[in-house]
Amino acid sequence: MKNVSNLLLLQQPVTVMKGIGEETARQLADLKIQTVLQLLEYFPYRYEDHRLRDLAEVAHEERVTIEGKVHSEPSLMYYGKKKSRLTMRVLVGRYLITVTFFNQPYLKKKIALHDTITLTGKWDKHRQQISAQQYHLGPHKAEGNFEPVYSTKGNLNGKTLRKYIQKAFTEFGHLLEENLPEEFIATYRLVGRRDAFRIIHFPQSEKELKQARRRFVYEEFLVFQLKMQALRKFDRENSKGVAHHYDLQALKKMILSLPFSLTDAQKRVVNEICFDLKSPYRMNRLLQGDVGSGKTIVAAICLYANVTAGFQGALMVPTEILAEQHYDSLCERLTPFNVRVEILTSSIKGKKRKELLQDLQEGKVDIVIGTHALIQKDVNFKSLGFVITDEQHRFGVEQRRVLREKGINPDVLFMTATPIPRTLAITVFGEMDVSIIDEMPAGRKTIETYWAKQEMFERVLVFMEKELAKGRQGYIICPLIEESDKLDVQNAIDVHAQLTHFFQGKYEIGLMHGRLSSDEKEEVMKAFSENHVQVLVSTTVVEVGVNVPNATIMIIYDAERFGLAQLHQLRGRVGRGSEQSYCILLANPKTEVGQERMKIMTETNDGFVLSEKDLELRGPGDFFGKKQSGLPEFKVADMVHDYRALEVARQDAIKLIQSDYFWKEEEYSNLRKQLQKSEGLKGEKLD
Ligand code: ADP
Ligand code: MG
Repeated sequence: MKNVSNLLLLQQPVTVMKGIGEETARQLADLKIQTVLQLLEYFPYRYEDHRLRDLAEVAHEERVTIEGKVHSEPSLMYYGKKKSRLTMRVLVGRYLITVTFFNQPYLKKKIALHDTITLTGKWDKHRQQISAQQYHLGPHKAEGNFEPVYSTKGNLNGKTLRKYIQKAFTEFGHLLEENLPEEFIATYRLVGRRDAFRIIHFPQSEKELKQARRRFVYEEFLVFQLKMQALRKFDRENSKGVAHHYDLQALKKMILSLPFSLTDAQKRVVNEICFDLKSPYRMNRLLQGDVGSGKTIVAAICLYANVTAGFQGALMVPTEILAEQHYDSLCERLTPFNVRVEILTSSIKGKKRKELLQDLQEGKVDIVIGTHALIQKDVNFKSLGFVITDEQHRFGVEQRRVLREKGINPDVLFMTATPIPRTLAITVFGEMDVSIIDEMPAGRKTIETYWAKQEMFERVLVFMEKELAKGRQGYIICPLIEESDKLDVQNAIDVHAQLTHFFQGKYEIGLMHGRLSSDEKEEVMKAFSENHVQVLVSTTVVEVGVNVPNATIMIIYDAERFGLAQLHQLRGRVGRGSEQSYCILLANPKTEVGQERMKIMTETNDGFVLSEKDLELRGPGDFFGKKQSGLPEFKVADMVHDYRALEVARQDAIKLIQSDYFWKEEEYSNLRKQLQKSEGLKGEKLD
C-alpha cells in the first residue's frame, strides 16, 4: 500500500510546494510540468562544464571557467544611457588577461585589487580577453562543476527552474522509489533511482554523471522493451489466429519449378514464415533483406502456401509501378499452379473494378496485389488469411495495429525494401518477430560505384554511351521533376532534354516522374523494360523494386541529397542481370559528412553496413525521413550510441515478460505499473 501512496504524493500538482503559486504553475505547465514528479523528471539537456582548464588549450570563442588574481584596479566606464563596462586585468596562471563585466557597475565596489576571483565566460583568444557571464569571489570550488542547463520558455529562466527542482528534490526526493529489480541493479552495478535523480540534477563529478546516465539509459530501454514484449505477448494471447494447414507437397513442387534454387537464407525465412502460418497465433513478422536478395520470391512462395491452405492472400506495395511488376512475376510463378492472381489499383475502375471486388468477396480470386487502395472500406474478402506489405517502415506501431484489424485476423508479414539497422529494427519493430535474408543469390556481381564531381557529367555520359553501345540500358536519377527557383539541383525534365540532344537520335530517352498519370508511367516502364527506350531519366519513383536486368548503368545526380539507404535502394535497380554494372554518383558535397557518405557508397555494396552508417551519420530522426516513423522518444538514452544497452535491455525484457515471477512478485510492481500507461496495453490486466 505504501507504494501507491508514494506515487500519489509525487503526482500531486506542483502548487503543493511552497513558493509555487498559480503563476509559476502556469509557466511550468508550458514545459508540460504539472506534477512534482514531472518536475523531478524534467532533466537537463546538457551541462555547463565549470572545471578549470589551461587557457592554452581553450579555443577562440569557447566558454571557459578560470580562477585568477585581480591585477589592476577595476576601472568603470559608462557609455550610452544605462550601459557600463567594468574592466580589469587578471592574472591566470602565467597569462595576464583582460576581464570585462558589462552593465554591473556595482561590482566596482565589490571587486578589489589582489582579490582571487573565479569566473566563466567566452574566451577571446585574439584579444586575450574574457567577458564574464558568471563569477564568484574566491577560489574555484572542487564541487558542483557540472551545472545543468534546462530548456525553458517564456519568463521562466533556467536558474529559477533549477531552484524549483532543488526544492522538489529536498521535499519529495525521498518518495522516489526504485523500480528496477534487485538482480539487474546488482548485475549491472546501477546507481539507485533516487541517487540517479540527484546526480542528474546536481552532479558532483563527471564520473558520477556518467553512472547516473547509464542507469537511466538502461531504465528507459528496459521499460520500452517491456512494453514491446508485453504487446507481443497479449497480441498472441488475444488474437484469434488461424492455423493455415498448407499443402507441403504442392509447395515443394512449386519451389522445384523455379529457374534457380533458393539460397540458404531464403529457405530459412520461408521456413520461419510457414511456421507462423501453420501456428494458431497471428503472424506479426518483419522480413528484411538487402536489395536483390530475393524477397519477392519468398513472398510468392508463402502466398502460395496460404492459398493451398484454402485462404486468400494480399500483397500491398507502395507504388503502382511496383504493383504491376509484382503482378507480372507472381502470375508467371503461380498461374501454372491454378492460382488466380489479380491486380487492384486506382487505375482499375468502373465495371472491371466492380467485378473484381465481387470476385474477391466470393473467394474467386486467390491473391490480389495492389497499393494501399487494397485496405479501403469497399474491399472485402471471403477468407483473407495472409497479408504481405512491402516497404511499410513509414508506419508506427499504432498504424500497424489498425492495419491488422482488417480482415479476419490475417497473418501479416511486413517486408522492408531497405535494410534497417538492428537498433532501429528492435525499437520501432520491437513487438514483432524478425526474419532476415542475409545472403545474396550466387553469381551476383557487385556493382562498381564511383563518385564524380558534377562538372564531369559529359564525361560520365561518354562512359554511359559505351555501355549503351554494348546493347545495355541505363538510368539517370534526378532529385527534382522540373526546374525550381528555390533549389539549385538537377531536374529530370532538363536532363531529359539535354540527353536527347547529346545522343542525337542514336538512343531513345524516356522520362519518368511522379506527376505522370499511371497510364503514362506504365507506358514508359513498358518501353524501358522492352528496350524500346535505352536511357530512363527519372526521379526517385524507380527507387523501389523496379526490375530491368538489362540495365547496367545508373547515374545519380546531386547524390549528396539522398540518404545512404535510399542511394543503395536506387543503385539496386542495376546489377540485376549477369553483366557487370556501374553506379556513378554525381555530387559536390559541401560538408565532411557529405563527402564521407559518398565515399562509403563507393566502398560497400552491403545494405546493412550502409544503413548502420547512415544511422550513425544522420541520426535516427533522419533515417526514416520526415514522415511518421514511429520512433519513440527517449529522454536520456540514444539509440545509436547506447545500442549495447538496448540489446541488453531487450534480452532482459524478453526474459521478464516470459517469466511467471514478473507478473506476480511485488518487486516488479513498479515496472508493471509503468506498462499500464502505454498505448495498446491499456485494456490489459497488468497488476
Ligand atoms: P528484392 O525484392 O529482395 O530486392 P527480388 O525478389 O526482386 O529482390 O530478386 C531480384 C532478382 O533475383 C529477381 O530477378 C529474382 O528472380 C532473382 N532471384 C531471387 N532469388 C534467387 C536465387 N535464389 N537465385 C538466383 N536468382 C534469384
Ligand atoms: Mg523487391
